[in-house]
Amino acid sequence: MIIVVRQGATQAEIREIVDTIESKGLRTHFSEGTQVTIIGIVGDKSLLADTPLDALSGVEKIVPIMESYKLSSRNFKPEGTIIEFPGCRIGGREIVMMAGPCAVESEEQIQASAKAVKAAGAKFLRGGAYKPRTSPYAFQGLELEGLRLMKQAAKDHGLLVVSEITSENDLEAAAAYIDMVQIGARNAQNFRLLKEVGRSCIPVLLKRGIAETVEELLQASEYVLSEGNYNVILCERGIRTFETATRSTLDIAAVPVLKSKTHLPVFVDPSHAAGKAAYVAPLSKASVAAGADGLIIEVHPDPKHALSDAAQQITFDEFDRLCADVAGMAPIFGREFRHGA
Ligand code: PEP
Ligand code: MN
Repeated sequence: MIIVVRQGATQAEIREIVDTIESKGLRTHFSEGTQVTIIGIVGDKSLLADTPLDALSGVEKIVPIMESYKLSSRNFKPEGTIIEFPGCRIGGREIVMMAGPCAVESEEQIQASAKAVKAAGAKFLRGGAYKPRTSPYAFQGLELEGLRLMKQAAKDHGLLVVSEITSENDLEAAAAYIDMVQIGARNAQNFRLLKEVGRSCIPVLLKRGIAETVEELLQASEYVLSEGNYNVILCERGIRTFETATRSTLDIAAVPVLKSKTHLPVFVDPSHAAGKAAYVAPLSKASVAAGADGLIIEVHPDPKHALSDAAQQITFDEFDRLCADVAGMAPIFGREFRHGA
């Protein structure tokens, strides 16, 4: 349930509400909007059975949240969440572009990629260092050395870093090199990993699982939020359907559905959905039109010879053209995107 705090309530009245709830062994989560302040209560509500919260002077009203997810619900926090980074804000008017290779392969490759994506308008450099591959015999990534190379390339070109970890054991070491941790589709419901990133404050890009419903994605995000980390971005990356023309089926409807159900920013990864470079630009534009807050795109200096996902990575020139198109269309949808560094 949530408690809507009376407008003009004093700090002491708010403290009284929080103390009353917490004295019963429940946890509170605070959401301070420009219009209303909301206190979320998570846990076993029966513990409050003999506590008349509505008698407290700071309480305006008590509203039950019917959804299976609570803290990520728009009922808990009506205003969209904005996550601030040096040089960009995710979840506001700006469309934020994250781009780079599927995997970090060498210093030369990641340096060239960083230079090109920055020049086109990206704010984040992407690149896998721990590669979750379907086959154990496929390239598995450069691990920490890959993260080190990526951080250096990002620093040299004024970018932020987003990269995936696949185990909670790598979080502490990886956090020294990255600005945002990616949870991949194959770990979308790895609840131990989600809880662990929830206990840190590092921003999280949470991908949708290959066979995960929108509601399950929101429940997965709840694992991160309920541990205290509110810096979560959701990412639609295609789901498995009967259709085989694309690698996965991009569920474009998930974008407006998510935007209506949650205050969290919503990204799209058209690369892993399409599986083919030629479809990446059209799906990117469709995502912007559908209301995505940003895109994460695979870009490689020489896609044909990439060590992973060769078919879907786009060239530097293709990425630059896509960024020019996004800049042109963004204002039609009330958004901003600057093509160029
Ligand atoms: C990735 O972005 O590197 C990746 C492996 O994507 P996904 O988890 O969506 O398959
Ligand atoms: Mn990939």
